[in-house]
Amino acid sequence: MLDVMDSPTRSTLSQTLLQEVQMLANQFQQTFGRMPSFMEVCGSHTMALARTGVKKALEGYVRLISGPGCPVCVTDQVTIDAMISLTDGSDRIICTFGDMMRVPGSYGTLMQAKTEGKDVRVVYSPVDAVRIAEQHPHQEVIFLGIGFETTIPILAAAIKEAEEKQVHNFSMWMSTKLVEPILRQLLHEREVSLDGFLLPGHVSMVMGRAHFEFLATEYNMPAVISGFEALHMLSAIRHLLMLALKQHAIVLNDYKSVVTEQGSVQAKYWMNHYFTLCDEAWRGIGVISQSGMDFKKEYDRFNAKVKFSVLTREPRRTKCRCGEVIRGLIDPPQCALFGKACTPLQPIGPCMVSSEGSCAAYYQYMREE
Ligand code: SF4
Ligand code: SF4
Repeated sequence: MLDVMDSPTRSTLSQTLLQEVQMLANQFQQTFGRMPSFMEVCGSHTMALARTGVKKALEGYVRLISGPGCPVCVTDQVTIDAMISLTDGSDRIICTFGDMMRVPGSYGTLMQAKTEGKDVRVVYSPVDAVRIAEQHPHQEVIFLGIGFETTIPILAAAIKEAEEKQVHNFSMWMSTKLVEPILRQLLHEREVSLDGFLLPGHVSMVMGRAHFEFLATEYNMPAVISGFEALHMLSAIRHLLMLALKQHAIVLNDYKSVVTEQGSVQAKYWMNHYFTLCDEAWRGIGVISQSGMDFKKEYDRFNAKVKFSVLTREPRRTKCRCGEVIRGLIDPPQCALFGKACTPLQPIGPCMVSSEGSCAAYYQYMREE
């Protein structure tokens, strides 16, 4: 049953759309002799597809594969290890987003460091961390900057504020990721066979529809930009099915109320003002060239990696299969630890910690009792 109870009209619309999607999926199966596979790039889509019941309603019709678009899930263990070692200085305050507190590094979490008496604080915005720095002028405030194109402009806004207010005891440890390089990597490696991408509305709002044109022109891959309600997602999946049936590769904007052709000029300006492309390590995937953003040289005074020297070891290997989950190679229940050793209360990997994580979505909404 789809969770679209807010109005009878929406509910009827969703049921109609669902039937159309199921019909088109059957047509696809008859034509190509297999189920269509689409990847939802974004973690918010993964969670929304599970929560609204769309994923369940499409079981047996469309294979929806979770992609690498949750910033928590792809934060490398070494980053957590570095942040934990930074908590050692008594004059330091570490700030981060809530989900990051429970993400395991090689030897523990930031939450454990806090329990041991280290000054680790959860903030809702990096600008809050700048405020904390202003209130504690004799301590160093280090913010762990994670996120995709949606968050990078917000990180830039915090740096702008620190710069304008001349806050000298604030820095950021950048561990940001970009969507385009990981999609290119997935398409190059071809480990998972796909018929299209469900593209995130938020990233597209910043980057614009045209940014994703490469999927169609270079990889012959259809893609549809979608919002996060059941109606939005069903409509986008319907478009994807029609494109896949016609073997027609275009990048379609199905979220025009929010996403424009070129995206937000201002957000892109501020991203590129403070930051530049860098190689970035993705958890469970490895280093991808030019797949993240870090400080430009002239802003090194805000760069925690330059300000502090941190020695980290090789990340410890675990039996967690998050790397395979985020590349679409397995569904969470295929991990032997799922729901047993690894639960949202005692997560072993970030995909179970994150509020946008695939394992958490399956655990909450799609678990077989
Ligand atoms: S940052 Fe935006 S695009 Fe990325 S997972 Fe979160 S909501 Fe989706
Ligand atoms: S169930 Fe837990 S251990 Fe397994 S892949 Fe998911 S987060 Fe990792």
